[in-house]
Amino acid sequence: MDCLFCKLIRREKPANIVYEDESVFAFTDIKPVAPVHVLLIPKEHFETIADVPEGSPLMAVLTDRAVKIADQLGLSRDGFRLVLNNGDNGGQTVYHLHIHLLGGRFMTWPPG
Ligand code: AMP
Ligand code: ZN
Repeated sequence: MDCLFCKLIRREKPANIVYEDESVFAFTDIKPVAPVHVLLIPKEHFETIADVPEGSPLMAVLTDRAVKIADQLGLSRDGFRLVLNNGDNGGQTVYHLHIHLLGGRFMTWPPG
């Protein structure tokens, strides 16, 4: 499949991998917007959150891993942000479902 993130999972393109298990893959964002900027993706390809089957445990697994990775990276005390961009108005540029884990500095909300 011609999907950038699937290629990272298959090691066809380089990634700075921070976590991997049977269903989740996490790596640092190539254009970080915070001191810590990790992307968590399911190994199974879904374009957006709307494509995840109803009742699937996938999103719970992803957020569980995000919390664990945040803790391992020392973000628990000061906090962190999870961002999930969906579709064009959601600012999604890579159509393989992913969660941004952002931390290490205060970030204003909402975006402009
Ligand atoms: P989004 O705008 O939510 O679709 O986020 C896509 C993210 O993927 C952006 O923050 C990009 O910087 C990031 N990205 C694109 N290509 C790569 C890559 N090869 N390795 C790591 N991150 C990437
Ligand atoms: Zn993919």
